[in-house]
Amino acid sequence: MRFELEGAIIFSADLAPAAAELDGILKEMEGTVLMKGVPEGEEGPHVGSWKADGPELKLTIVSGRHVRAHEALLRLRKELSGRLGKAHRIGGRAVRIDRYTIEFQVSREPVAEVRVPFASGLEFQGTTARLVLTDVTEDFLSRNYVDRLIALVKEKVDAQRYEGKEEFWEAIWESPALEHTYDMDPTEEMARLGWIQQGPGKGRWFFRPQAAAVIRAMERIALEEVLHPLGFQEVISSSLVPFEVWLKTGHMKGVANEIYYLSEPATRSAEAWEELSDLVKITREVPREKLADLLEVPRAGMTYAQCPNIYWSFQKRTLADEDLPILVYDRTVNSFRYESGGRHGIERVDEFHRIEPVYIGTIDQLVELREGLIERYKHVFNDILELEWRMAWVSPFYLQQAGLAGGETEGADAGDDDRREGTIDYEAYLPYRGSREESEWLEFQNLSILGDRYTSAFTIKAQRGELVSGCSGIGLERWTSAFLAQKGLDPSNWPQGFKEYLPSLPKGFTFH
Ligand code: ATP
Ligand code: ZN
Ligand code: MG
Repeated sequence: MRFELEGAIIFSADLAPAAAELDGILKEMEGTVLMKGVPEGEEGPHVGSWKADGPELKLTIVSGRHVRAHEALLRLRKELSGRLGKAHRIGGRAVRIDRYTIEFQVSREPVAEVRVPFASGLEFQGTTARLVLTDVTEDFLSRNYVDRLIALVKEKVDAQRYEGKEEFWEAIWESPALEHTYDMDPTEEMARLGWIQQGPGKGRWFFRPQAAAVIRAMERIALEEVLHPLGFQEVISSSLVPFEVWLKTGHMKGVANEIYYLSEPATRSAEAWEELSDLVKITREVPREKLADLLEVPRAGMTYAQCPNIYWSFQKRTLADEDLPILVYDRTVNSFRYESGGRHGIERVDEFHRIEPVYIGTIDQLVELREGLIERYKHVFNDILELEWRMAWVSPFYLQQAGLAGGETEGADAGDDDRREGTIDYEAYLPYRGSREESEWLEFQNLSILGDRYTSAFTIKAQRGELVSGCSGIGLERWTSAFLAQKGLDPSNWPQGFKEYLPSLPKGFTFH
């Protein structure tokens, strides 16, 4: 790593009276103040050239990775202020970096352009990156943006490795193949029979009584067959997630493009809103541009997954030993995701109904809990819904990016027994999509242990020892979709186990 800085320390008065001493002071500091923290035998920062110009000390500094040039600049200001203050009553007011060039190594030669904010230049020669910053403020330095910018360049170069690559996927378990007599798309069939109606708005469905009854039956099955027997307790969260929460979970940097943002009115004053109301009365339309002026820029969004607010609720708490593992679920809040071109049927929508169990405990407790969850889920999918389905280890993109492919820290090819962290996807065969070998199966839920990511982000502590956490996403539209795609819409063909949860369908409505 090499840091090359051109900048200035701005003093409170003309430096002319001190000019004669400066050279000696700077030389001395190179051997003392600037060497603090530099390991034996390593290079410290050097002042290349300097010039006193009125109240400004213009200088260049070159450094390696120990006491980087910008840290050296700040140290010099402090030291010089002390010295010149005593002798000449001159104090250092501010620092300025006109041009900062940083050279560092990346893991591979980038194959495509890498763009980062703040940089006025970024070039690569093989695996050497050369980042140029101009007009760097002191604020920028003290907030540690330099390090984060370097980390971002490295992250983006690493991410290119995964672009276009398939997600990590490794089969764990597969049900026997079943014979299916139904091969239609259940969404289309439900729409034809009037069980559901598209809308209101994009990527949403209105569930009429028949479809609502199926979804609620799925919910009861999840609660009574899986969550309650394992001791999960219900919580009710808010639909709104403030940015502070998503900054901690990583959603704001990871999935910002899928979030539904929420604006508050800039004011509640009826007077401010009067013109808008009047326009609505006359035009019978919403003047959206006018509306935009009356809204705050968002500070929050609609729930993407329920776990962030659940973690928030335990923030900075020390959990009692006897409560561990904490087992809770939310089933009240809908999840909102801007799926755009990916929308399909009821299985990929912009607003969906999901139960999200969240668990916090020691890693041993969660590994044991996972066994319990897997057994219970298996019972539901085999004995109640009688599905053709499978389980696989997968790796969410953020874990791949963090170099944790396979979802666990020991590396992707560690044996199953070693897997303590990671994500398991549950996938169902959808006959309408084609053959079981070639078609894409539907991920209808997942199950994760995510290490200490969230317990440390929200400072959730145990009385002793380390806490980890995880969650499972029970997508009710997806359960419904998997079930109906395999069993069809005629209740007389539904398995006995499911009929116990839904003995008969409500009759719904006929429209003329
Ligand atoms: P996908 O890869 O299908 O987009 P995901 O990885 O984004 O799924 P998660 O964030 O892991 O999904 O959410 C967990 C569960 O939520 C999924 O297993 C699924 O049941 C449900 N789910 C996610 N996105 C949607 C959606 N757009 N419509 C309906 N259900 C969804
Ligand atoms: Zn979650
Ligand atoms: Mg998704």
